[in-house]
Amino acid sequence: MENPSPLIKILNDNESKILTNGKYNKNQFDYLIRSLTQAESLRFQILEKIKETGKVDVEKIKLELGLSDEIVEINIDYLRELGLLGFINEHPRFFREIIENSDHPGIFPSTQLIKDRNLCCGCGLCVAICPVNAIDYLEGTFKINEDKCIKCGLCYSACPRSFFPQQLNELEQKNDQNVQFSEQFKYYRMLCTAQTTEERIKSVAQDGGIVTTLLKTAFKQGYIDGSFAVTLGDQPLKPLPIFVENEESLLKTAGTKYTNVPLLKIFYDAKDHKKIAVVGTPCIMKALKKISALPLNKPFFDNIALKIGVFCMESFDYHKIEELLKNEFNVYPSDIKKMDIDKGKFIIYDQDSNISKIPIKSIKKYGRFGCFFCDDLTAEHADISVGSIGSEPGWSTVIIRTKKGEEFCHKAFDMKLIRKKEIGEGDKSFEDLSKIAKSKQKKFIEFRRVKMLQQEPSERIKNFEEVPFGLSDEMMEREVQRCLQCGLPLCVTGCPVNIRIPEFIKLLKEEKYISALYKIKSSNLLPAICGRVCPQEVQCENSCLLGSLGEPIAIGYLERYIADWERRNKLKECPDCAAPTGIKVAVIGSGPAGLACAGELAMRGYDVTIFEAFHAGGGVLTYGIPEFRLPKEIVKDEIETLKMIGVKVNYNAIIGKILTIEDLQEMDFKAFFIGVGAGLPTFLNVSGLNLNGVLSANEFLTRSNLMKAYRFPEYDTPVKVGKIVTVIGGGNVALDSARTALRLGAERVIIVYRRSEAEMPARREEYHHALEEGIDFQFLTNPVRFVGDEEGNVRKMEVLKMKLGEPDQSGRRSPIPIENSEYAIDTDMIIVAVGTKANPVLTKSIPELKINKWGYIETNDDGQTNIEHIFAGGDIVTGSATVISAMGAGKKAAKAMDEYLRRKYIPEEKD
Ligand code: FAD
Repeated sequence: MENPSPLIKILNDNESKILTNGKYNKNQFDYLIRSLTQAESLRFQILEKIKETGKVDVEKIKLELGLSDEIVEINIDYLRELGLLGFINEHPRFFREIIENSDHPGIFPSTQLIKDRNLCCGCGLCVAICPVNAIDYLEGTFKINEDKCIKCGLCYSACPRSFFPQQLNELEQKNDQNVQFSEQFKYYRMLCTAQTTEERIKSVAQDGGIVTTLLKTAFKQGYIDGSFAVTLGDQPLKPLPIFVENEESLLKTAGTKYTNVPLLKIFYDAKDHKKIAVVGTPCIMKALKKISALPLNKPFFDNIALKIGVFCMESFDYHKIEELLKNEFNVYPSDIKKMDIDKGKFIIYDQDSNISKIPIKSIKKYGRFGCFFCDDLTAEHADISVGSIGSEPGWSTVIIRTKKGEEFCHKAFDMKLIRKKEIGEGDKSFEDLSKIAKSKQKKFIEFRRVKMLQQEPSERIKNFEEVPFGLSDEMMEREVQRCLQCGLPLCVTGCPVNIRIPEFIKLLKEEKYISALYKIKSSNLLPAICGRVCPQEVQCENSCLLGSLGEPIAIGYLERYIADWERRNKLKECPDCAAPTGIKVAVIGSGPAGLACAGELAMRGYDVTIFEAFHAGGGVLTYGIPEFRLPKEIVKDEIETLKMIGVKVNYNAIIGKILTIEDLQEMDFKAFFIGVGAGLPTFLNVSGLNLNGVLSANEFLTRSNLMKAYRFPEYDTPVKVGKIVTVIGGGNVALDSARTALRLGAERVIIVYRRSEAEMPARREEYHHALEEGIDFQFLTNPVRFVGDEEGNVRKMEVLKMKLGEPDQSGRRSPIPIENSEYAIDTDMIIVAVGTKANPVLTKSIPELKINKWGYIETNDDGQTNIEHIFAGGDIVTGSATVISAMGAGKKAAKAMDEYLRRKYIPEEKD
């Protein structure tokens, strides 16, 4: 390699720092650089070959470079995860965002994963591998000393969570004739349940004492001269990683089922031993396999003589468990004699042999009981896997995977140190084992999120039919498999109305569609709408843990699927309603805020009437968002659901003009929710606004959607569209206007936005759709003047180029004009979509109602205004926001209204 790779450069630049830290002496450092140089040079030769052919041709690379399958596969994985194969559309499978946004192309980003407690598996490999001792294990997690860190990224490249060379196991199997395959455990040579015959081990070990006995056998036979293990620390139940050098010390480690201690951090203590055993979770095994691909660690890896895997769902973080027992179950560490796991229960034995049992599920969040990063039970890189699942108390389940593992076990069997019972298909142990193994299998090969089919751009620009078709049954089935059913579901907190997402996905998976609908509708009555227009990418999906691996669950698609399934099957699942209270409540405005509020109040037993100014309900959902994004039939249908639970709707009722709040009070309405949106268009301060052909997005969209101009001549209310339409703005409204104009016949549509693509508030999906449809985006461009002809028709838009400055109040970088950068865009129609304001019609009619300087209604956190019986929510409180935030506000206000009305009008029930 002519130029050193970025990794070698960093290491060379930091040579003195590395030597001072003492992990390497000069000879070792030189060896490290030499071996890394070889490895990097090979990797770059492979990269060159891929560049030459423009694709990954493993056979050709193998042949031309004289390499084995294994080396080629590992390096291709490595290059892809490093983000270097983007040119052939091969992107990192894991942590794509972290890698693609890294400031140091060509090396892995350092430390990101290690810092994330949710992702870290606690193996300690990062500590072991860091050349400058910048990572410490403290109180159950890893801390990075940023002053010491040289940002070489070795920790990331070795971390078992960053990526796994997937193909390795298949390659391993190829030469092994005696391997049996099982859908659940992938492959094995033998399955049995086993128990030690050694009384001393039995008295201290949990379950069958197999790990200790196997290690003892290996020491006795001279197969190993040392083993990584875990022992009890000086505090009760506090495990410590240790390196055991002889058979005698082994007993100290028996009975400690701990594996989530940073085992590999004592890596270097073992460097002089040539025959080492390692005991650990699948993660630790994967970490070992992974570092074998890094020359830095190869000498160490070559010294490993035996790998014993433990079922990781049985390993736990004792420190956290102690906290939990203390805080939630009132069990104190000093009282605990022993902890164990059996049949889904965490079992605690106290000093007096009393037993407490806690379901593992309820403590899952405190430990790392089999995460979702691999198929548990299938510690496939181990020689032997051991655990208690599938065995009777006092016995262990043993999965022998490799020839070497078989040899070790047979020694122990022959020496009568272990007694065993073979198990096979049909045995209960086998069934238990396979049930759990199966439930844990997450297939990385199917890691990609489903892609929704959609109308071809060339077709769809000629019609107003919906762009995406929705998920097929098969796609839905595939997608629900990906959900991790997290113990602490972050997606729920990411959703403004806290839909119980994992629960509805689980029901979908179990094909319980009606229950899934109930589950969603108990938090959100409008799933068909939210599934289509919610910005899931910044809400629930943004919080999905799988997102850290690149692709979150398609929550919006699944929500839409189940809502569409309901419509397709002509069902109408209504949530259960409380007994009628007989109290009348008025909801003003039928946008998402009003609809959500009305639904929630009806479910709580109120007599709800919606008053809507227009002749159709739905607010922006009907007059703003076009048919090709949200078919109006769906909005109508969702309003029907509300009617079914007793909500009445009065159209053409402008409150503040036709009727006032006082009139409604006289009609016996006891409380009011104002959800009138923010529909007053904002205009720019430029000359030429009055020219023909300049109109607000609000007017344009209302004429197309509500007045049905898009169905001209069926409806005789057309809207005239120019040949070249220029839309100003970068939000959903601008994109909807542009795409509507295109469909209504414009030959060219330009969007002019004063900031850059990154600052555009429009939904990403819609932006991509607009690009596919040929909308011309002119970023960092600001209009200064509209120019017309003699007849007063708009003909040009004069614009100025902008550059981005410091972030403004909105957190987005503010645009700054570039001097002398003016130019003109030919156009015969301009649509202004630069935002909307509060419409004062209603608020003016209630002079005592507190509003802010922009005309938005002021409320407390529960949506109550300064007038106790008037509540408000949605865009009229927040300014233009989103459908789901308006719905969230409507729901919240409904709860507060319920409390208010109960306090005031419903006498407390006496015992
Ligand atoms: P609105 O939806 O504005 O509803 C208010 C209702 O009150 C209207 O029906 C109105 O007629 C009625 N009303 C007003 N005054 C009175 C009165 N005096 N008496 C009786 N009735 C009255 N959000 C997303 O999450 N995703 C999107 O993709 C998206 N796209 C959008 C596209 C467009 C074109 C627009 C304009 C907005 C979009 N939004 C989107 C924003 C979202 O639609 C709004 O934030 C949301 O609709 C606000 O809901 P609301 O109930 O507060 O008000």
